Amino acid sequence: MSLAESPAPQGGDGATDAARNPLRACLQRLVTPRKFELWFSTVRLADTSGDPVEVTLGNEFLCEWVARNYLDEVHEAVAECLGEPRRVRFAVDPQAQPEPAQPQRDSGERNRDYFMSNSDVGLNPRYTFDNFIVGPSNQLAHAASSAVSEALAGSYNPLFVHGSVGLGKTHLLQAICHKAMSSGRSLKVLYLSSETFVNQFIASIEQGDLERFRYRYRNVDMLLVDDIHLLAHKERTQEEFFHTFNALHNAERQIVLASDSPPDEIPTLRDRLSSRFKWGLVAQVAAPRFETRLAILRRKAIDRGAELPNDVLNFLAEHIDSNIRELEGAVTKVLGYAQLIGRPVDVAMAHDALGTGDSGISTRTVTGVERIQEVVCEHFGVKIADLQGRRRTQSIALPRQVAMALARRLTGLSLEEIGGRFGGRDHSTVLYAVSRMKDRTERDPSFRTLLNELQERARR
Ligand code: ADP
Ligand code: MG
Repeated sequence: MSLAESPAPQGGDGATDAARNPLRACLQRLVTPRKFELWFSTVRLADTSGDPVEVTLGNEFLCEWVARNYLDEVHEAVAECLGEPRRVRFAVDPQAQPEPAQPQRDSGERNRDYFMSNSDVGLNPRYTFDNFIVGPSNQLAHAASSAVSEALAGSYNPLFVHGSVGLGKTHLLQAICHKAMSSGRSLKVLYLSSETFVNQFIASIEQGDLERFRYRYRNVDMLLVDDIHLLAHKERTQEEFFHTFNALHNAERQIVLASDSPPDEIPTLRDRLSSRFKWGLVAQVAAPRFETRLAILRRKAIDRGAELPNDVLNFLAEHIDSNIRELEGAVTKVLGYAQLIGRPVDVAMAHDALGTGDSGISTRTVTGVERIQEVVCEHFGVKIADLQGRRRTQSIALPRQVAMALARRLTGLSLEEIGGRFGGRDHSTVLYAVSRMKDRTERDPSFRTLLNELQERARR
């Protein structure tokens, strides 16, 4: 025990420091000042009587990190201090533990601390399971998310949620975070956009600090990556993510991914990644049906401390059929509008607020299929019933294809759903229309101009 040291002095001068803590002084010479500060400020040679000798550090994380990355330096420093090479084991310094505020804090708080210091975005407190309205369009994704938040790395690993924009993917991912972190277990939850993953990966390469990057991502209990489709065309990051994925999956850590398209449709995504993304459960969130839209609208109004009359709810649910963010926006607008003019909400006001009326106040943000059909019919001089009917003459087929292509561009609806609005046609018909129109706009500038004009008109 003779060489065992007393705890590291706080801010002691170099000479006494070297005498009281020779290991620390040796390491200070062996690594850069920045690395020393990061990893070794708490290092001590605690017990030299046994074999291996015991080196202590401030916490478990440091022990793990130093053992993994600086074993050679520590061996060298120990050999220098003791005059001979010795085997080393690491332990948490009992005098550095526990951190002062730790004992009274519950696991929820600790989990949140970890989250705050490691995830790039804060969680939206409203994105909870309680605030998530479940309907046929999102039932599976919701059930799987809820299961994942309760039992980590069960059968849904990874959970892959996909669907177009504004349909609740981010809401579900964050709900998982909230729930998991308040579960009473101590959990390292990391939530980020794949953009952050890309940026940090690039930065770590530039700074030659890939180890730290890897540690950060591979040492968590649950990794949630939002907007994973942004890995498209980023080949090197895909490669890195592949390894991150494997490391976590092998260690049975939960992975949750959200994407605007299914794994197979993410451009340039390597097969080995897309196949892994399908290992667990792939769940789609689709555009909500009428009843669900109604429930969401009602709920969003209540959240804002208001109640909307049924006819207004019906009107909004009918006219906004693409995405939930638009539904929310409409509630905000209608309520704001009512407050502004100091009258209770009615359907005419909803018209105004959405810009669908003729009051001249146009704040329309919503482009529903109906509006697109209206604009297209007006231009081509056909009837909406014709677009939905069975006739296939060229005079109907073209407007129909134009309207379908615009619906694809402007709404969040799936191919099936768009087909449904055109007399129950199937998704391949819509897909065909979309690609025909795309070809034609590429070949024919005047057609392109027409389509853009119609698009602008439909948005107005
Ligand atoms: P995405 O990530 O799929 O683009 P978000 O999760 O950001 O969509 O959702 C857009 C908005 O709609 C958010 O404000 C979210 O709270 C709300 N939202 C989405 N789905 C639901 C739902 N089922 N119930 C209540 N609100 C929802
Ligand atoms: Mg999102």
